Amino acid sequence: MERLQKFIASCGVSSRRKAEELITEGKVLVNGRKVTELGIKVNPLKDKVKVNGQLLAVEKPVYYLLNKPKGVITSVTDPQGRETVLDYIKNEKKRIYPVGRLDLNTEGLLLLTNDGELAQNLTHPSKGVEKTYEVRVKGRVKEDDLQVIANGVPLEDGITSPATIVDLGFDDHNGVHEVEITIHEGRNRQVRRMFEHFGYRIHNLKRIAYGGLSLSGVKRGGVRQLTQREVNALK
Ligand code: URA
Repeated sequence: MERLQKFIASCGVSSRRKAEELITEGKVLVNGRKVTELGIKVNPLKDKVKVNGQLLAVEKPVYYLLNKPKGVITSVTDPQGRETVLDYIKNEKKRIYPVGRLDLNTEGLLLLTNDGELAQNLTHPSKGVEKTYEVRVKGRVKEDDLQVIANGVPLEDGITSPATIVDLGFDDHNGVHEVEITIHEGRNRQVRRMFEHFGYRIHNLKRIAYGGLSLSGVKRGGVRQLTQREVNALK
């Protein structure tokens, strides 16, 4: 037996939190009866669960790692018809969605899956998944500022948690300072805001690692599926 919201998420319909909303909004039927309370358990092999009239079936989970290029939106659809990260996942009939998001102009590692439970775990603040970014900043970055960035930057939504910084130095040739930063939070535009706080302008932002996974072997715009061992390590 499994909690109804967990089962809905595992069928790739939505995150568990969204599944809870679907239940309380009266959009879920179990064996033909509307269920609006959150406590109930179902037998995934026997009970007939419908969401918005659609019968759910246990779906094999799939996991993709994309090296997102700049200019691609982290969304499953775009009303303006722009390219989305889903356009890079070919021949996948299952309903998959991104785990967290990268800004339009951020490139790098993004996971996509139909495993609502894993997606929710990875993005939950309490899990503190490690994310590493390569930040290319216009002009020189002061040592003292990097120290503050490592210790905690007072942003409007609160001080940031400690981050690990590797100063890769200033490149005279193109006037860009390169820094690697590892954070355990996932606030909106967090890395940009951490540098912008000091007046720096980001030249390029790239996520190079996420939860122990790296971009190794995946070129820009490239995709690969995770191995079972990698999936287990994320759980
Ligand atoms: N931090 C940002 O500022 N942007 C991203 O896309 C990811 C982290």
